[in-house]
Amino acid sequence: MSVVLICRRLLPAGLAELEGFELRVGGLDATREQLLELALGAAAIIPDPTVPIDGPLLDAAGSELKVVANFAVGYDNVDLDACRERGIVVTNTPDVLTNATAELALALTLAAARRMSEAERELRNGRWSGWDPGEMLGLELSGATFAVIGLGRIGRRYAELARGLAGELLYVSPTAKPEAERELGAVRAELGEALDAADVVSLHAPANPETRHLIGAAELARIGPDGVFVNTSRGSLVDSEALAAALRDGVLGAAGLDVYEGEPQVPQALIEAPRAVLLPHIGSATTKSRDGMARTAARNVVAVLSGEPPLNPVLG
Ligand code: NAP
Repeated sequence: MSVVLICRRLLPAGLAELEGFELRVGGLDATREQLLELALGAAAIIPDPTVPIDGPLLDAAGSELKVVANFAVGYDNVDLDACRERGIVVTNTPDVLTNATAELALALTLAAARRMSEAERELRNGRWSGWDPGEMLGLELSGATFAVIGLGRIGRRYAELARGLAGELLYVSPTAKPEAERELGAVRAELGEALDAADVVSLHAPANPETRHLIGAAELARIGPDGVFVNTSRGSLVDSEALAAALRDGVLGAAGLDVYEGEPQVPQALIEAPRAVLLPHIGSATTKSRDGMARTAARNVVAVLSGEPPLNPVLG
């Protein structure tokens, strides 16, 4: 019976696809040492974005290992070179989380623009002394210029949702997206140009060495003191110290964040920063999306271990 290592947790929708396999489950608190032990003899590994998959873990599994089926669409936790060298297939879970993540990015946009976290904190802390015409003023989104950085699956869906609000819709992308230009009236721009023009900037590019700190102090200053910055991609794309400083100093208007460098730690400076809405990486956290992710990861395992092509190959 082939062994499948579920590094942390797989929801029942995924477990149901894996009947006939020996399942080893690390649990939410699985340590690196435990995973190295549990990996021995595994034919498949199902990690989530919090579990680094590298050469030593692949070697701990040994020669039976055929597939790493990541429980996420982003795969920056997986050392692709190490997998390639060992002939191991890598898969991800695209599409099933697109709506959930784009919806959360829109929610963060609205919440940051209207200072919802800050306003609710005031109320809960008993500091609301009455309606004040000059209090909690935010950015009106109707007619605002939106810039989407990374017009892939999630960025495209966010653009569709934002289209109902946006005046102008800009996008930044390595390749042109003529269909989005035609259907959404999106206009391609260089990064700097988009940051200068936009009232709202939402980040949807993948984490990789080229996108590390794509947004730093200079870029945040270009979004400006009335601008809203949203990140649901990965923490590594943004210099978090620069972001906290930009909020503190009023260089940036507001931020809505779902992801952080060094999760689950969140830099104290960001926690203390004003006009920030901070969520704990819940972009894909709808029942439909997470069930879909679990099913997709499991089906990729079944396909590869049955000698069929992977359904969602990242590698192989
Ligand atoms: P995707 O379809 O691959 O889209 C990514 C897009 O980014 C691609 O269209 C790509 O352009 C573009 N891109 C690459 N490098 C860029 C750069 N330097 N500047 C601007 N754009 C760039 O991926 P997706 O399914 O939309 O997912 C996007 C990311 O969201 C994932 O990588 C993941 O990290 C993150 N995510 C987060 C959550 C969460 O819970 N917060 C949930 C799901 C996903 P081309 O089309 O030209 O290649």
